[in-house]
This record gives sequence, C-alpha cells and structure tokens, in this order.
Amino acid sequence: MLADMATRVEASRALVARAAQALEAGSEEGGRLSAMAKLHATDAALRVAADAMQVLGGAACFQGSPAERALRDVKISQIYEGTNQIQRLVIARSLLGPDLVSRGAGSALPLPSCRREDSASL
Ligand SMILES: Cc1cc2nc3c(=O)[nH]c(=O)nc-3n(C[C@H](O)[C@H](O)[C@H](O)COP(=O)(O)OP(=O)(O)OC[C@H]3O[C@@H](n4cnc5c(N)ncnc54)[C@H](O)[C@@H]3O)c2cc1C
Repeated sequence: MLADMATRVEASRALVARAAQALEAGSEEGGRLSAMAKLHATDAALRVAADAMQVLGGAACFQGSPAERALRDVKISQIYEGTNQIQRLVIARSLLGPDLVSRGAGSALPLPSCRREDSASL
C-alpha cells in the first residue's frame, strides 16, 4: 500500500512538472497537460489520503487527526478550479476536437472489429 501511495505521488509530481515545462515553453500542449496534471494529482491525493487512513489504523479516523484532516482537505481539490469531470472534457476536446466530443466520440469513431469467436476465447 505504501509503495502504491508513493508511486501515485511521484507520478503526480512528474505530470505537474511536465505541464509546467510545457506552459513555460508556450507549447500548445500546455492546456491539456495542465488539465491532466490537475485531474491526476487530485485523484491521486484523495486515494493516498484514504490509504493513509487505512495504514494508520483506527486512530486516524477520529475527527481532527492529520489523516482525517487530509482526507477532507483533498476532496475539495477534485471540485474547485474546474471539477475533474470538466478536466476530462477539456482533455477529450483537446485530443478529439470539440465537435467529436459534443456529438459523442463513440458515435464518430470507428469501432474495432471483433468477431464472435474472438470474444469467446477471452
Ligand atoms: C468549496 C468550493 C470552493 C470552490 N472554489 C472555487 C475556486 O476557487 N475557483 C473556481 O473557479 N471554482 C471554485 N469552485 C467551483 C467549482 O470549481 C465548480 O465549478 C462547481 O462546484 C460546480 O459547478 P456548479 O456548482 O454550478 O454545479 P454544476 O455545474 O451543475 O456541476 C455539478 C456536477 O456536475 C458535473 N458536470 C457538469 N457538467 C458536466 C459535464 N458536461 N460532464 C460531466 N460532468 C459535468 C460537475 O463536474 C459537478 O461535479 C468551488 C466550489 C466549492 C464547492
């Protein structure tokens, strides 16, 4: 569990640094990478805070403990500065273009061919 927590934190740091580099360089990827960084880092923060509560045991669940405080504090980070659902829309629009997203990408993209015998062997 600690390994997963540390990996999530490091992956978030790397994505934030990548987004900052892109923005500083004036790259057109800056907006998409910023949305990815916000989405990933805040989802990871909530997961890590929840895992910390489990690792620390029952005492961490009491109101006012550092883990309990962190869990409440990080939840809001998924909501403010553009909710994570909206970050997903920003990323999808950046990848596909606004027309495809508003029509529903599924209806516009070709589906991979899948024969009945292929799925039976899965
Ligand atoms: C405590 C707090 C602090 C905040 N601080 C800031 C701040 O500092 N700066 C700032 O800019 N904003 C801030 N906000 C606003 C926040 O970023 C959201 O914009 C807002 O909470 C959601 O908008 P709404 O309340 O109008 O609800 P709605 O727009 O109705 O959204 C309700 C839910 O539906 C989801 N949703 C809406 N449209 C779609 C869609 N097309 N696809 C998928 N899901 C969708 C949203 O993600 C949200 O989860 C804050 C909000 C709170 C609660």
